[in-house]
Amino acid sequence: MRIDEILRNKRTLSFEVFPPRKQEGAKEALYATVQKLAELSPDFISVTYGAGGGDGRDNADIAAHIQACGVTALAHITGGPSSPDDVRRVAETFLARGVENVLALRGDRPPEAEEYCKYYQHATDLMQALRPYGFTMGAACYPEGHAECDSLYEDLEAMKKKEACGARFFITQLFYDNSYYYRLVNEARKAGIEAPILPGIMPLVNVKNLKHIKAMCGSAIPLDFRNSVERFAAHPAVLEELGLNYASYQILDLIAKGAPGVHLYVMNSARIAALIVERLRAVRHEFFGA
Ligand code: FAD
Repeated sequence: MRIDEILRNKRTLSFEVFPPRKQEGAKEALYATVQKLAELSPDFISVTYGAGGGDGRDNADIAAHIQACGVTALAHITGGPSSPDDVRRVAETFLARGVENVLALRGDRPPEAEEYCKYYQHATDLMQALRPYGFTMGAACYPEGHAECDSLYEDLEAMKKKEACGARFFITQLFYDNSYYYRLVNEARKAGIEAPILPGIMPLVNVKNLKHIKAMCGSAIPLDFRNSVERFAAHPAVLEELGLNYASYQILDLIAKGAPGVHLYVMNSARIAALIVERLRAVRHEFFGA
């Protein structure tokens, strides 16, 4: 189903998974995770794409498996490392496997990739190339501003261009201070951007998550929460409880203030997804219509 249509009808709950490294049994393990995530009745599950490119076949397999489990798939695709032939091949592979929805991204240049962005400098270039295939396209946005931007307002210009190139919805970078999200939505609406902006939330439930945040996006962590995370870093069970409670608080606050849905970065953990969904049980029916 088209994600823009789902968003027109209800508030969404969705998850992100990433393809496993090439180890024996890893794909089967991910498929089992997807099956468990599907049992939580999300509106869609997204699958990330390597910043270094690839032929998209693993992503298409995972997206097809998501849909075989009865859930709409959102396949990410990065333009940075690709040639027009690569993009054509990936788009045709996705279409052949029944993928209707893509999240079009530039990708982060890996240090060794000199020719990164030779053909597709920005997500918008990739979106132009994908347009003829008829996908429902989404794009990324950044409540705290993208690392290459001097201000949020430069990023809003990029969002406007992404919407003009066909973005029907946005998903945000993860954040721990909801006020960044509210500022982004307010400023985006003032700038005339109309597409729904789905907040991305990553429950910070272990020390690995903290390292991932530092390495990948540097999102600000409010001091009180950060102090507690550091205080309980050596107590995994306490840290997990703290992270689940904090994420649930963020989600309830987002719902209360009218967010169109919530996209959960669950780092391939169906257990963490289930624990969050359990905490949302009281609001699921009334506020998510499911
Ligand atoms: P762009 O939109 O090209 O933006 C990059 C910079 O250029 C920004 O500073 C922007 O303001 C500026 N800009 C954008 N368009 C224009 C334009 N037309 N003209 C001038 N300037 C412009 N990475 C992966 O490798 N794989 C994934 O699966 C993946 N999934 C992601 C999912 C989400 C929800 C998010 C938020 C990020 C994801 N990323 C992923 C990371 C992403 O690739 C990086 O953040 C990357 O640095 C920027 O990608 P983008 O699509 O926003 O790029």
